Amino acid sequence: MIKQSTDVIIIGGGIGGLATALALHDIGLKPRIFEQAKQMKPLGVGINLLPHAVRELTELGLLEKLKATGVALEELRFYTKFGLEIQREARGTKAGYNWPQFAIHRGELQMLLYDAVLARLGNDCVKTGYKAIDVSQDAGKAMVYFQDPTNENNRTQETADLVIAADGIHSLVRQKYYPEEGPLLYAGINLWRGTTRQPAFHTGRTMVLAGTLQTGKMVIYPISPDNEKGETLINWVAEVRTNTYKNNDWNRPGHISDFAHLFDDWKFDWLDVPSMIRNADRINEYPMVDRDPIDRWHFDRLVLLGDAAHPMYSIGANGAGQAILDARTLAGSLKSMDNPMDALKAYEADRLPTTSNVVRANRGEGPDHLLEIVADRAPVPVKTIHDVISQKEIESIGAKYRKITGYDMETLNNRASLVP
Ligand SMILES: Cc1cc2nc3c(=O)[nH]c(=O)nc-3n(C[C@H](O)[C@H](O)[C@H](O)COP(=O)(O)OP(=O)(O)OC[C@H]3O[C@@H](n4cnc5c(N)ncnc54)[C@H](O)[C@@H]3O)c2cc1C
Repeated sequence: MIKQSTDVIIIGGGIGGLATALALHDIGLKPRIFEQAKQMKPLGVGINLLPHAVRELTELGLLEKLKATGVALEELRFYTKFGLEIQREARGTKAGYNWPQFAIHRGELQMLLYDAVLARLGNDCVKTGYKAIDVSQDAGKAMVYFQDPTNENNRTQETADLVIAADGIHSLVRQKYYPEEGPLLYAGINLWRGTTRQPAFHTGRTMVLAGTLQTGKMVIYPISPDNEKGETLINWVAEVRTNTYKNNDWNRPGHISDFAHLFDDWKFDWLDVPSMIRNADRINEYPMVDRDPIDRWHFDRLVLLGDAAHPMYSIGANGAGQAILDARTLAGSLKSMDNPMDALKAYEADRLPTTSNVVRANRGEGPDHLLEIVADRAPVPVKTIHDVISQKEIESIGAKYRKITGYDMETLNNRASLVP
């Protein structure tokens, strides 16, 4: 176990940074978190936390808070764009996992983690308005150089024994160690994300994947408990193959006229998709981007974590989950080793190959791949789905992805805790 007095700086107060703070606190450390935003605000739209990530948050004592904030999904249904059901499968505890799968607002998850960090580590452990602009190291310490994002002349410097860079997909720290890496890699797919308050569909705990990238695909799921009018917040993502790359800012507003026409005919007896799009509270547009896996995350006293280490397509519900798994694996390594630099190395050896496989799988072998296979084989409506694909083939696609990403049920339910 490393010394309790080890001073740790975490750069970035997103999902990965805050989960790391909680995981390190759980093993007796008191890290300091530096976030560039002036104020923590619940930004973003919906995300999914698969059972492997929920297990980690449960072991950190957050299950009840997740239950009160998100929706424990019970099933996933796949449809063709004509509304024919391809596959229906149980999710979370309904499927036999020991932990649920939660659909949740990304910003509310971030605030839930933030509140837990303040309650456990104290109000002074998160510094907002600190943008890391450089890092350096000598034999004894690591240094992080900060700038006030609203006043570039206001600069400060902090030293620590270890630095964890959880500064997201635009990581400046990664850029420092990989200066030749260039821009993010664009998949030629844009996502329009929205939320609409309306009555739930199907079981009220159902996630739907429908259509195809070529003609318009939709991912739809509820992310809030019902209100007094029996309405829930429905999160939806329209994914469309296109070549119009704009900047990848999570908060860039999207325009309904750019994509809604693709879904004009999607009036199913369980959901009126055009009306759901029209009634959205807000719509953001974001390009599908990632980076090729790199072969090193740790540099002496510094290590990358979350999107800074492994930015991936937002397919398969793994972005936030893999950052949470990173956080707990890192805590497990630090707990079981005396030398912190060895622990950073062990964390990298464990997590880098796994997340590289997820990055690659999300480029073609995610669970959504089923929709593309079916669309290729059935460009016009068919009577039954088994005319074009067998049940065995359907199930093999999901099973392969679960194995790659670490939430294969048998393995997850039976493995030891990541933090012994
Ligand atoms: C505003 C925002 C909205 C998002 N919305 C969605 C969404 O709707 N759906 C979705 O799937 N994913 C969304 N994401 C991404 C998602 O949260 C991540 O893919 C995933 O949770 C991995 O978490 P992370 O901590 O690695 O990255 P993030 O959650 O992106 O967190 C990175 C954090 O680091 C901070 N930061 C960045 N650079 C610096 C710096 N130089 N110094 C200090 N702090 C820095 C950022 O402000 C941010 O708080 C969003 C991210 C952000 C920042």
